[in-house]
Amino acid sequence: AAVKIALIGFRGTGKTSVGRILADRLGLPFLDTDTMVERRAGMPIPEIFRKKGEAGFRALERETIASLRDAEGVISTGGGAITDPANIADLRRHGRVFLLSAAPGVILDRIAGSDRPGLTGLSQEEEVRTLLARRKDAYLGAADACIDAGTRPPREIADIILQEIRGEAG
Ligand code: ADP
Ligand code: MG
Repeated sequence: AAVKIALIGFRGTGKTSVGRILADRLGLPFLDTDTMVERRAGMPIPEIFRKKGEAGFRALERETIASLRDAEGVISTGGGAITDPANIADLRRHGRVFLLSAAPGVILDRIAGSDRPGLTGLSQEEEVRTLLARRKDAYLGAADACIDAGTRPPREIADIILQEIRGEAG
């Protein structure tokens, strides 16, 4: 049967890093929605935000996730993908959704100096705390399982997910 695994969580929790390892271990396609959005738009994400705003980015992300509704593979999403319930429904369809979580301080360390666009006009620290609080229920509600991704390397997180999947396939 087709295997679909989706990784959700705040930016910097390691969805791309873990997803790549997991796809490799499973011999499945690695589908990173941020990368697919960039390809669809023909420009990098910071430029999409400058030219089309967050709404423009979300529309492209929505189309991308809809296109993966029946895909086989490991899907790494953008941190805000779960703010649209339609995305959650598409990610959950025939698939297992894993939430990667990390403390705000860990996230701040990981994203410091990156060119990821801000979403609120707040300082990076305030933005991380505010958005984590705002999205908490959506993250938890969308996930089948939540994994601490703040205190172990990506390879170990991939191992945990593999165990969960294999346990279920029994
Ligand atoms: P996301 O896709 O969730 O935004 P990334 O996989 O792009 O996160 O990781 C963001 C940054 O944090 C990268 O520099 C990556 O190397 C680092 N990173 C990701 N996961 C871990 C981890 N478990 N331990 C240490 N560093 C990590
Ligand atoms: Mg990513």
